[in-house]
Amino acid sequence: MQQASHPIVILGGGFAGLFTALHLSQQNDSHPIILIEQCDRFSFKPLLYELLSGELHSKQVYPRYKELLAGSKIGFVQDTVQSIDLHQRRVNTTSGQVFDYSNLVLALGSKTTYFNTTGGTEHAMPFTSGEQAITLRKHLRHRLHQAIQTPSPERRHLLLTVAVIGAGPAGIELVCTLADLLPIWYDELGGDGREIRIVLVNRSREILKGDVNSYLRCTVQRAMKNRVIPVDFLFDAAVTKITSDGVEYRQNDQTHMLQAGTIAWTAGTAPNPLLMELPVSQNRGRLLVKPTLQLPDFPEVFAAGDCATESDHPQPPTAQVAYQQGIAIAQNLKRIKENKPTIPVQIQMRGTLMKLGLNEGVANLFNKVQIKGQPGHLIREGTYLQLLPNFAHNRKVTSEWLTDELFQRHRPVTYMQLGQTPWLSGIATAAAALILATPLVWRAAQPMQFQQNLMWTGVPTLLDHLIPPSR
Ligand SMILES: Cc1cc2nc3c(=O)[nH]c(=O)nc-3n(C[C@H](O)[C@H](O)[C@H](O)COP(=O)(O)OP(=O)(O)OC[C@H]3O[C@@H](n4cnc5c(N)ncnc54)[C@H](O)[C@@H]3O)c2cc1C
Repeated sequence: MQQASHPIVILGGGFAGLFTALHLSQQNDSHPIILIEQCDRFSFKPLLYELLSGELHSKQVYPRYKELLAGSKIGFVQDTVQSIDLHQRRVNTTSGQVFDYSNLVLALGSKTTYFNTTGGTEHAMPFTSGEQAITLRKHLRHRLHQAIQTPSPERRHLLLTVAVIGAGPAGIELVCTLADLLPIWYDELGGDGREIRIVLVNRSREILKGDVNSYLRCTVQRAMKNRVIPVDFLFDAAVTKITSDGVEYRQNDQTHMLQAGTIAWTAGTAPNPLLMELPVSQNRGRLLVKPTLQLPDFPEVFAAGDCATESDHPQPPTAQVAYQQGIAIAQNLKRIKENKPTIPVQIQMRGTLMKLGLNEGVANLFNKVQIKGQPGHLIREGTYLQLLPNFAHNRKVTSEWLTDELFQRHRPVTYMQLGQTPWLSGIATAAAALILATPLVWRAAQPMQFQQNLMWTGVPTLLDHLIPPSR
């Protein structure tokens, strides 16, 4: 039976679970905390494109939990949750371990679905974790190596065509990255980058349908056309089959085949099957929670992130929501410990950020202002690097990234091959300097206001790293 001495058990070490654990660990409390996660590394999903391209490396955006949690009070268990008994307050894992809990946090996210598309599991490459990003990178490199040795133009065309299925934010960010990156990689091998073809395949005509980023549709469409290789579109195309050599789809009542050597899948997510079995209310497979993020019939259990939703104020399945919920759960668990009532969680939606190619991004601030191009890219990466869990890790990554950005350590080839001449780079540097100067003046004149207004963007911390404020 449940005892107060049992640990707080957190299931899933993604944004919701990991941030809950880290914030609990920072509290001055000796209550044991156990985090159960099936992978040995944390995938910082918004920056997986940078892992694929090599703009950031795995230590930065795909760190080991062991390193992330070193020095914390969190007991990390790498195992797969097999079943959850809410009545007995017990969790079983596939390795046979049993965990009784005083409080439970369900943060198991969602999983990729291929909507029963024939050949999906076998031939399409998902893109939702660090491991998958690395697999896709290796596969693409392999295809380019095969292409360079292939005399047949038809075969080369197939090897050099990449189909990305799904025009949601992940599909769009992926095509934009690949349309800049692959020509560079292929040129480096001695190939002709213009032979690369990137095709975005979507069931409907509308991109970013029903997504929080839908405000950015026009900007995104322009960006996809302006890549090193312009992105091709295949819309109103319902994918019916995936093979090792391409994608079969229905369009205007006819069946067609797109030959492609790489097929990436970003089209769908399904609820975690483990949670479907629980005796609690759900909405489209997401657990229904109270505004405090507790399950209505099991107040000792919290649920957050992609696997949970609140009926009155549903939040989009984003990292931005999940990590804020994690922090709020830690605060509510503290209140329970102090015999105080739990409080409703307030989520601040501060706008959205998208990667639109190498060195190009867009920051949509409060749905009012769009900052595009390289400034948008700087804000996006600065914001996410700021969010990386664990301060020591975060500080190291941010300063490494800053050095790379300022001195272009990783990208001399990129700049030249993007068609930029040195004087254009000079203009870009001057623009970057101007962008840095404006917040510097603001920080000097109104330090408190500057901190409060821009803290979430990561800009204050970036500046503090670069130019410490005079005290
Ligand atoms: C490519 C990509 C780009 C994205 N970009 C953005 C972005 O720019 N901005 C944004 O806000 N959001 C973005 N998102 C969405 C965001 O990453 C998710 O909303 C967020 O990760 C949800 O957090 P979570 O904790 O609910 O789930 P997850 O981060 O998915 O974590 C769930 C964890 O549970 C673990 N798990 C699952 N089942 C088990 C089991 N049975 N046993 C043990 N462990 C298990 C998983 O391994 C995983 O680590 C992106 C997502 C993807 C895929």
